[in-house]
Amino acid sequence: AKTSGKNRYHLFNSAFYDAMRQRTKREKELRAAIAENQFVMHYQSRVDCKTSKVTSLEALVRWNHPTEGMLGPDEFIGLAEETGLILNLGELVIDLVCTQIAQWAHGVYACVPVSINVSSRQFNERDIRESIASALARHGIDGSCVEIELTESSMVVDPRRTADNLRAIHALGVKLLVDDFGTGYSSLSMLHNMAFDVLKVDKSFTSRLGIDESGEVFFRAIITMAHSLGMRVVAEGVETAEQARILEALQCDELQGFYLFRPVPAEELPGSLHLDSLS
Ligand code: C2E
Ligand code: CA
Ligand code: CA
Ligand code: CA
Repeated sequence: AKTSGKNRYHLFNSAFYDAMRQRTKREKELRAAIAENQFVMHYQSRVDCKTSKVTSLEALVRWNHPTEGMLGPDEFIGLAEETGLILNLGELVIDLVCTQIAQWAHGVYACVPVSINVSSRQFNERDIRESIASALARHGIDGSCVEIELTESSMVVDPRRTADNLRAIHALGVKLLVDDFGTGYSSLSMLHNMAFDVLKVDKSFTSRLGIDESGEVFFRAIITMAHSLGMRVVAEGVETAEQARILEALQCDELQGFYLFRPVPAEELPGSLHLDSLS
């Protein structure tokens, strides 16, 4: 019994050290990737329900890993957050997006704002207003060309500072969006006071539409209240024609999801901002 216990310990031990080694390797790679800029942005269109036109593009980061190919954010954003590398990665993302916007200055996408996902640490530990303002100035673009997406959990760290920060960002002409709405604990009036322009309802609510009443009940309540407070509502993760139809009937303002557009590199974006029909 003693030896098997010892073996188990060794097994555990080596699995633990493997995981540690793997993590250390990844962290080193990520640090190099930031220094060498191995990242590319993909863009997912958001569509206005009434006009069927693209209203905005969400910038989603990808890591073009030298040996493993294109990695999605779920494979590195968590580690970047834990290690603090997200602060530098976040700056890089802002720069990549602004570079792209400047390149679009004369094309179809010239007047479509791009929304940038900002992580909690980036928002709470950096002067994000300054990061955005200097990137806008560096690339010679207007504040109305960018939007930022923040999750509810980023705001609870320091609500007073958050409110001040958001007001300062808003003053640049940058729109503010709440990401994954419904998964945190913020109230609509708080979000209204924090000058948010748009609520992006989390895809877990969208996926319930047409299956049972709960998704519809949630959307109806949120849309009514958001509109009375002057905010627009975007449904995330729209995957079916039925979901799109229900959301249109509920007066949801905008839709985003694989049913409409998948995230793609800038050069693969459709040549027209108009979608033939929603459902
Ligand atoms: P998110 O901000 O909620 O972004 C939406 C995610 O859902 C994206 O995954 C998108 O590809 C995916 N998606 C879009 N439509 C659909 C759909 O119809 N069905 C389903 N099942 N999924 C859909 P992605 O690109 O893997 O990004 C995952 C998360 O990583 C993002 O969630 C965001 O929290 C984070 N992220 C992405 N880019 C950045 C970035 O530049 N900076 C930071 N800090 N976080 C980022
Ligand atoms: Ca987002
Ligand atoms: Ca989201
Ligand atoms: Ca998310």
